[in-house]
Amino acid sequence: MQAGPLVDVRNVSMKYHTPEGEIPALKDISMEIRKGDFIGIVGPSGCGKSTLLNIIAGLIASYDGEVLIHGKAVKRGSRLIGYMPQSDQLFEWRTIWKNVLLGLEVQNNVNERTEAFARQLLENYGLKEFARAFPSQLSGGMRQRVALIRTLAVNPEILVLDEAFSALDYQTRLVVADEVKQIMVKENKTAILVTHDISEAISMSDKIVVLTKRPGSIKSIHSIELTCSDNTPMKSREAPEFRHYFNSIWKELDVHV
Ligand code: ADP
Ligand code: MG
Repeated sequence: MQAGPLVDVRNVSMKYHTPEGEIPALKDISMEIRKGDFIGIVGPSGCGKSTLLNIIAGLIASYDGEVLIHGKAVKRGSRLIGYMPQSDQLFEWRTIWKNVLLGLEVQNNVNERTEAFARQLLENYGLKEFARAFPSQLSGGMRQRVALIRTLAVNPEILVLDEAFSALDYQTRLVVADEVKQIMVKENKTAILVTHDISEAISMSDKIVVLTKRPGSIKSIHSIELTCSDNTPMKSREAPEFRHYFNSIWKELDVHV
């Protein structure tokens, strides 16, 4: 018997209530995410991608349908989920080390063991010498790596990334996407990645969920299988199937420029 999904999104619909009336943001979304999956979510701007991530992360409580993680309803502030936002949100007045410890401090969980784990992550990912530096002394790519390490330090099972690389310039974005993917695979994480960049989604995901325009519903789901020598996001862009996925998702998104 196959184990149940890690994340089970069932018939989720959501409306924002504003003084001007209701804004339907999501309509009847269902999807199953298994341990170790990398799910990419793409869709037109404003279609409800961030809303869906916030619901999965337990940050929005009032919606229809249900989201189960390990078969149970998610709670606000669930330690199972690590959130990586669009900007790195490092605190400029804190050293890199203090920034990395932030999530653990919030959880009141700083101890010898968790500090050793955080120190190991900094070392593994080439930031050990920067522990006493301040964010302004780091490049954009390094800052994003620190943000990831801060998220990983609390050891969440699932990582949700909301346009996490979009503030970076194109070349840095490629490198950071590679690094982040490799780190997440190595740390055995499950990831849900929202992006408006179709290439980024194809290069990083096992499965891509395409949403319709608002209220977002599922338009299609693509399983991504790329033949390439080296399975990094950078190399996977050279796979012969890449263009095929790009073209079909592009058409579905129906972006008129
Ligand atoms: P996306 O991330 O796909 O760009 P969002 O999930 O942020 O889309 O938003 C979906 C829709 O809901 C958008 O039209 C947005 O304007 C609206 N929306 C988002 N947050 C709020 C809010 N707090 N109050 C009212 N409307 C909102
Ligand atoms: Mg968004």
